[in-house]
Amino acid sequence: MLNLTPKEIADRKALTINPCKTCQPVGALYCALGVHKCMPHSHGSQGCVSYHRTFLTRHFKEPAIASTSSFTEGASVFGGGSNLKTGMKNVFDIYNPDIIAVHTTCLSETIGDDVGSYIMDFDMPEGKLAVHTNTPSYVGSHVTGFYNMMSGFIKYLAESTGTKNGKVGIFPGFVNPGDIRELKRLAGLMEMPYIMFPDQSGVMDSPMTGNYEMYPKGGTTIEEITALGDAKHVLALGMFTSTEPANVLDRKCKVPYDVLPLPMGIEGTDELLMKMAQLSGTEIPQALEDERGQLVDVMLDAHFYHHGKKVAIFGDPDTVLGLTALVLEMGMIPKYVVTGTPGEGFEIKAKEMFAKFGMEGCKAKAAADLFDLHQWIKNESVDLLIGSSYGKQIAKAEEIPFVRAGFPVLDRYAHSYFPIVGYKGALRLVELITNALLDHFDRTCADEDVDVVL
Ligand code: SF4
Repeated sequence: MLNLTPKEIADRKALTINPCKTCQPVGALYCALGVHKCMPHSHGSQGCVSYHRTFLTRHFKEPAIASTSSFTEGASVFGGGSNLKTGMKNVFDIYNPDIIAVHTTCLSETIGDDVGSYIMDFDMPEGKLAVHTNTPSYVGSHVTGFYNMMSGFIKYLAESTGTKNGKVGIFPGFVNPGDIRELKRLAGLMEMPYIMFPDQSGVMDSPMTGNYEMYPKGGTTIEEITALGDAKHVLALGMFTSTEPANVLDRKCKVPYDVLPLPMGIEGTDELLMKMAQLSGTEIPQALEDERGQLVDVMLDAHFYHHGKKVAIFGDPDTVLGLTALVLEMGMIPKYVVTGTPGEGFEIKAKEMFAKFGMEGCKAKAAADLFDLHQWIKNESVDLLIGSSYGKQIAKAEEIPFVRAGFPVLDRYAHSYFPIVGYKGALRLVELITNALLDHFDRTCADEDVDVVL
């Protein structure tokens, strides 16, 4: 591994060596899997969808279904309209989804395919639907693709009848099914009627029954997406993931919304629950007060091992900011905070958080390269690394304790079943972080010190 000076790292702009993101259709596909009886459809070549499906399957250890327009040279030159229409007909005939969600790829974007008009021209079977969004992978990241697909569903399906249905739309952001289950549990405890969109719980964490079901029982229904147009309010969780679809819904159906951070850590969860209390007119129940108290108790018990430790965090912007909030609450120093997703707002937000906790010398970067992060760590090391599986080479090379959190986690099992949001999620993260630090101590300390941490 090279060891570049800070100036050499700062000066290299034209090349990404180790990206901290993946392509838009991965996010679009994951979003569409959160809609009940939906077949995600990739308008491009087979190689793209094969990669996207495999990538999601490696993270969730579940089948990620999707169909493809199967571009070859002909479609690449003359346009993919006939491929899309033939593909959609075959998908409805053979796999019988209620809805097909089409996203584009680099190739179909580059040749300028007008997917919206292809869908309008398609002879739609009765009772079936299709939506689409544009997901050029040379723009943004999988997070961009995720919210573009959400916006696509809203543009096609959400409708305002003029009568509010009393429900609150919850846009959970790009999170795991375990997080969505936790958000639903919180909304239930707060007695707040809601529509979760999208909802991959019950789809990407469905139980083994012995029978394969192409469309498991989970997912937001088409009726629920339509009813978002009559929602009384939307809670858009994660400003970089959920603001755009909330905005699209507001413009189309006049549904007001609040953008909140992903509820990670104490303050983020407090903020969500206070907003839920306001919307539902319900007091925060004792059960949640107790969970908060348990979290604070564990953080206090273990704070000797956290205080002043330097942490590098990388991944998706909202997840990284949520993790930053938590480590700040734990008394740690978020020395490096990076995301591969572009957008200046990330750096501004991270610096606001540093300033709030009086942190100096911390760096935040969007559109970041993990190669740069590694170089920063070589120049000034950290005590802990938190992020996706792509951090494990850095952790190994620099012998840094490593906690896997965010997307993708390809080399561990069951992680997507457990939340990192809410007080329960924060408690789990505190456990993972503390134990990673203690494991490292046990492995590297002198023999006579091995019983010191008791
Ligand atoms: S060609 Fe584009 S859409 Fe296809 S896998 Fe590569 S980056 Fe993604």
